[in-house]
Amino acid sequence: MRGNIDTDERPLVLIWEVTQACELACEHCRADAKLGRHPDELTTAEGKEVLDAAARFDENQLVVLSGGDPCKRPDLRDLVAYGDDLGLSMSLTPSGTSSLTDDVIADLSDAGLRRMALSIDGGDATSHDAFRGEAGSFEETIRAAKNAREANLPLQVNTTVCAQTVEELPAIRERVRDIGAVLWSVFFLVPVGRGQLLDPISPRRADRVMAWLAEVADEEPFGVKTTEAPQFRRVKLQQRDAGSDAGLERRSGIVAGDGFAFVSHTGEIYPSGFLPKSAGNVREDDLVDVYRESQLFTELRDRDALSGTCGECEFRQVCGGSRSRAFAHTGDPLASDPLCPYDPDGYQSVSGD
Ligand code: SF4
Repeated sequence: MRGNIDTDERPLVLIWEVTQACELACEHCRADAKLGRHPDELTTAEGKEVLDAAARFDENQLVVLSGGDPCKRPDLRDLVAYGDDLGLSMSLTPSGTSSLTDDVIADLSDAGLRRMALSIDGGDATSHDAFRGEAGSFEETIRAAKNAREANLPLQVNTTVCAQTVEELPAIRERVRDIGAVLWSVFFLVPVGRGQLLDPISPRRADRVMAWLAEVADEEPFGVKTTEAPQFRRVKLQQRDAGSDAGLERRSGIVAGDGFAFVSHTGEIYPSGFLPKSAGNVREDDLVDVYRESQLFTELRDRDALSGTCGECEFRQVCGGSRSRAFAHTGDPLASDPLCPYDPDGYQSVSGD
C-alpha cells in the first residue's frame, strides 16, 4: 500500500512516452530522442486505448504524457481531454522549447491538464543550456513556468543528478523556489540511452546529496522527491529515527514495477523508462493484466526476491534500491543498486567515496 493505493493492483504513476521526437539533444536523454516521430509510434486510436486501460486501474489514475517532447504530437490536446473525460489525472513533461507557447499551455490547461513538469539542470542559462544541448532552453523553460502559473497549472521541476550537474543543485534549488514549483523531482542518473555518456556521482556523495535534500524539503515550501534513488527513504530514516527499526517491515515507496509502469512510444510495457525490459505490448496485451500479473512486474514487487546487498538489507521493504540501475549495470533487475553505499551487517562495501 502507498497511502490508500495498493501498488499490487495499480501504479501510482503510469507514464506514456507519446513520442520519441524532440528538438533538443540533451546529454542525458533516456529516450535517445530524435528530431522526427517514429513511424511505428502508437496512433491516436491506440493511445486512447492506453488511456481506457489506465482508467480501468482505478479512478483518478495519474498518467504522465512524456517523450521526447509530447508537444510534437498534433493530437496532444485531444489525448489530454480524452484522459480527463475518463477521470484520469493528466500530467505532462514537455521540453523547454519555443513551441511551448503561452497559447499551447493555456489550451492544454483548458483541456484538463492537471500538472506540468519542466526540466532544469543548471542554475543559470549557461549551465542549463550546455547540458540540454540548446542555446535559449533555460529562458524558454523559465518563460513556460511563468505561463503555467498564469494558467493555474501546478508545476514540477525535474533535475538530473550526475557529476556534470551536482555542483549546480544549490542554485537550481533557488530557481525551483523562484518559479513557484510545488515539487522538485531529483533524478539520480541511470546509464540508459544517451545517459550512458554522463558520469554518475559516487555512492557516498549520493548519500550526502540525499541528506542535503532532506534538509531542503524541511526548509522549502515545495516538496522534494527522488527518482531512481529510493534510498532517500533510508537516508531520512537514519537521520530521524536513528536506532529505531519501526516500520521497516512494511513495503513502501515506489520503484520500477511497484507503483510505477511505463508504456513506450511503440507500446512496449516496461516497469520504468529506465528499465527497458518488456513485459508485453499494449497492441497485443492488456496493460492492467501485465501490471498485476506478469512475472517481471510481480517479481519486482517482491522485495524478498532481491539479491546481493539489497536482498540482505533491513531497509529493503522501505527502499528496495533502484531496480533500473541494477538492470543497467548487471542485466538483472533484482540485483543490488550500485549507487548505494549502505552495508548491512556482514556485507563488505564495494563502493567508493
Ligand atoms: S542496500 Fe539496497 S535496499 Fe538497502 S538501502 Fe541500499 S539500495 Fe536500499
